[in-house]
Amino acid sequence: MKQVCFGVDIGGTTVKLGLVSREGELLDKREFPTFRDLGATFDDIADHMRQVMAAFPDCQCVGAGVGVPGPIVDQSTVVHCANLGWENVNVAQELSSRANLPVKVANDANLAALGEQWQGAGKGCRNLVMLTVGTGIGGGIICDGRIVAGATGGGGEVGHMTVPFHSDWQCGCGRKGCLEVTASASGIIRAAKAFSPFKEMDKVTAKDVYDAAAAGDTNAQAVVGEAAAALGMAAVTISCIVNPEVFLLGGGVSAAGSALLDPVETAFRTCAFGPCADVRFALAQLGNNAGIYGGAALFFAE
Ligand SMILES: [Zn+2]
Repeated sequence: MKQVCFGVDIGGTTVKLGLVSREGELLDKREFPTFRDLGATFDDIADHMRQVMAAFPDCQCVGAGVGVPGPIVDQSTVVHCANLGWENVNVAQELSSRANLPVKVANDANLAALGEQWQGAGKGCRNLVMLTVGTGIGGGIICDGRIVAGATGGGGEVGHMTVPFHSDWQCGCGRKGCLEVTASASGIIRAAKAFSPFKEMDKVTAKDVYDAAAAGDTNAQAVVGEAAAALGMAAVTISCIVNPEVFLLGGGVSAAGSALLDPVETAFRTCAFGPCADVRFALAQLGNNAGIYGGAALFFAE
């Protein structure tokens, strides 16, 4: 019998559910809305799991690995999840009691990093750091093949490292000078808004700023250059602590491709600490499926 595992990514508006084989093949994927009511959401996930398994009668399901956007302790409980309004919810218990399967839980960004390590751009690496650059900056640290979740589930929150850029800009976390206020899409837009033509535009996206930089706009070049410098410097610090083999860049801003990757790597190489400097930089490969692969990796790889 073929062994399979569910990977589940619970977001604020949708749940992504995938069935993945031990060999890393995504056999089935579906998306459905997250309900306001916690019990209804878990009932629905368990229903979908039964539907999927009915379509794969020759497979044996070993469990479900679940990603939730919040700090996770004991691979089971989300301490706090603002997007879903959850406080101290034992996700593993809620789902395993309904689906009758073993369930392991991780932070969604950490799980995406694990997925990339198992079947994506970090395949074959035991030590990897992923920086997910979107509206904010999330991330995941994989050491010796395992997620570093830390004592209270805050491990891998690389977006809230303090960096020497915009030390007066307040972060959503309430502190100042976090990496994400400079280098996230929101930070890039905020910095660009100080200059024309962005100042006069109603809606600016990070892509607009990257496009302007590519077209030769010197202000836009300065803004994206600063974001890259902040990411590169953060990578230098992280490398001194966990010495990864590879840094992966993912998230919406990574659609800029080498326009993001190359200057981050250059900034890193400029001031990396020798014994930790032998690091590869690459773009993440699994996109929105990274969390699903990561969920399966909790059973098949970790
Ligand atoms: Zn912060």
